[in-house]
Amino acid sequence: MHEDEDTKIILEKRYSRKITGCMLFVLPVAWLVTGLVGPPAYLVGAVFYGLLFLALLGKYIFKDLSDSENIVITSVGVHLGEGFGSIKIDWRDLGELYTKTHTSSHSSSSGHGEVVVETDVIYHETKGSDQDEHTHTIDFSQWGGRFVKDHMAFYTAARVIEMFKKLRDTTSVKERLELIKNGKGMSIAEYKENLQVPFWNRPYLTCYDCGSELRYNTKLPQSKRTCPSCGSKEISEPIKIFPDKQA
Ligand SMILES: [Zn+2]
Repeated sequence: MHEDEDTKIILEKRYSRKITGCMLFVLPVAWLVTGLVGPPAYLVGAVFYGLLFLALLGKYIFKDLSDSENIVITSVGVHLGEGFGSIKIDWRDLGELYTKTHTSSHSSSSGHGEVVVETDVIYHETKGSDQDEHTHTIDFSQWGGRFVKDHMAFYTAARVIEMFKKLRDTTSVKERLELIKNGKGMSIAEYKENLQVPFWNRPYLTCYDCGSELRYNTKLPQSKRTCPSCGSKEISEPIKIFPDKQA
């Protein structure tokens, strides 16, 4: 792990990456199936599925793939976006925080049906050096929340606000670095490493604190089972489908 990465949390929209990956697999298969009708169908299919994919990619998913939508949390402040064009807000300048869910509906291009999109938006006030108060918004997620880059922690808008308040309310950089270190959840590499056991020893269990359903290695004693997302020990009991093997 890079030392630089250790001192910050990068919140990314990982769901859309999965959807893109899924589309890249499904569309060529759909195209091949369409082509079975007859050779001209290949051309029509290529145009149709190509445009369909570009439309989906263009509308929401392309934005998610770029780093410009990431939220970077450091001991100094929060960066909305990475690199060029990013906005930096110092923790000292952060005022009130609250969240709302925006609902918007888009009629689909084919004319039938509407797509309802719910976006969690975080509002935050800043008081800059000129003491003027400004209210800013962060389009947090259209997928319920965000993941910490390379880690298992899942952040809803409410969890982000809780984190921002803790970082704002302490002046100690050491304490902020501690909050950041503890706020990432398990690394994806560690999560996968933990699950190198037969499938009956890695059931999906529910975390009673954050509600995430993730796989756990039940060969490890219960005292070692902590939620990869939030670190809670309040984990549901495994249902024993293979009692002799899961004992
Ligand atoms: Zn949890």
